[in-house]
Amino acid sequence: MKKLVLASNNAKKMKELNALLAPLGFEVIAQGQLGIPEAEEPHCTFVENALAKARHAAAHSGLPALADDSGLCVAALGGAPGVHSARYAGEPKADARNNEKLLAELAGQADRRAHFVCTLVLVRAADDPQPIIAEGEWHGEILEASRGADGFGYDPLFYVPSHGQTAAELDAVVKNQLSHRGQAMQQLIARLPAL
Ligand code: IMP
Repeated sequence: MKKLVLASNNAKKMKELNALLAPLGFEVIAQGQLGIPEAEEPHCTFVENALAKARHAAAHSGLPALADDSGLCVAALGGAPGVHSARYAGEPKADARNNEKLLAELAGQADRRAHFVCTLVLVRAADDPQPIIAEGEWHGEILEASRGADGFGYDPLFYVPSHGQTAAELDAVVKNQLSHRGQAMQQLIARLPAL
């Protein structure tokens, strides 16, 4: 098995990635298991933040590393909250307050278009000159009130016209197939054998 460090300690992400990557001969290890501290995410694009996290994990471990960065971009807000999605309403991060702020910012706004983005970056080493970069987008609309109890983050406000449901109402398996994260993962997997 080839070892791959995940630049995150999110147990759900670990489980999902291990299930996808084990059949391809990869063992995913969370950076926390190796005592690696979290990296800074100071940049204004998803790709720069994911790259910074991946390089940081590779530099500390001496192993190939995978990182992701994701968020919601709202057309009428010039792409906000973007890389600030997790902490849109400030510290401590809280989904309910983020959703309230989003509704307030969009009050009276007719253009409700929005999309989620997920960028995955894999570096073979900290100084890899050609990282593998995969990016998924998931397009929808922001409702005027929450619907649904599943999912996390902005899911209850994110309406998916093709399915007539919010991301929080969709079956989890369906969400994983459609979502920005699912799409980015599939792209990454398609490119892994070249590693
Ligand atoms: P992170 O990249 O895991 O830190 O996620 C950034 C933030 O983007 C999350 O805290 C959520 O607010 C938002 N986000 C990313 N993906 C999703 C999703 O699939 N559903 C809802 N919110 C999401």
